[in-house]
Amino acid sequence: RIALSGVHKRFGALEVLKGVDIGVEPGEVVVLIGASGSGKSTLLRIMCDLERADDGEVWVGGVPLHDRKRAPEIFGQVGMVFQQFNLFPHKTALGNVTLALLKVRKLARAEAEERGRAALERVGLADKADSYPAQLSGGQQQRVAIARALAMDPAIMFFDEPTSALDPELVGEVTGVMRSLAEDGMTMVVVTHEMRFAKDTADRVVFMDGGVVLEQGSPEQVFGSPSEARTQQFLHRVL
Ligand code: ATP
Ligand code: MG
Repeated sequence: RIALSGVHKRFGALEVLKGVDIGVEPGEVVVLIGASGSGKSTLLRIMCDLERADDGEVWVGGVPLHDRKRAPEIFGQVGMVFQQFNLFPHKTALGNVTLALLKVRKLARAEAEERGRAALERVGLADKADSYPAQLSGGQQQRVAIARALAMDPAIMFFDEPTSALDPELVGEVTGVMRSLAEDGMTMVVVTHEMRFAKDTADRVVFMDGGVVLEQGSPEQVFGSPSEARTQQFLHRVL
């Protein structure tokens, strides 16, 4: 489980997070929504240890992130997928997926490839193992990026606008894979503007506004009867 309490983050004079308390339970799918600049990415990056909180506490799986000696142990448990796929262009899909298994986990090639192929199959790309990124559509490249994260066998997956760089007709294949991961019980924290995904997949929707969690609840609650005027305004703009 992840737990944040009283998290503050400043970039120079700009206070981006102003005291965030949030928890993520095992198996839960939490979707973060909110206007541009509200602090969603910063919060996600703090949760997965890419950024450090200035104040407050962050715990992942019972391990405090402020204890730097434990960082590698924590990193083994999280998978990350971003808007940009960041695949190596000179490596095949399988090469991209197995890279960290070989270099970071130090697995033997046969075992790494077995796990890599299983991960590619999980995202529906078993037949693209030998394709290079340039030979794949944006949706397929993002599914390779998801497979790369899954191959590390993470306890938690973080997604930051995974479909924002895709043509509209390719969004569904990526949200479809994410939905099936959710159905399999993966713990997920997802920043997205795909309100349909939030509605039908989130266990909890968290609305961020100006560096705080303004409102959270089930999709029915947040979309159906938001209690804050700011939430209503935001939803009115995006829905
Ligand atoms: P978007 O929907 O546009 O991705 P967001 O909710 O993810 O927005 P953040 O990326 O968390 O917002 O940014 C919150 C604020 O912090 C913004 O004003 C942004 O310019 C600022 N910010 C983020 N990262 C940095 C940084 N490394 N240095 C300085 N300012 C930053
Ligand atoms: Mg962002």
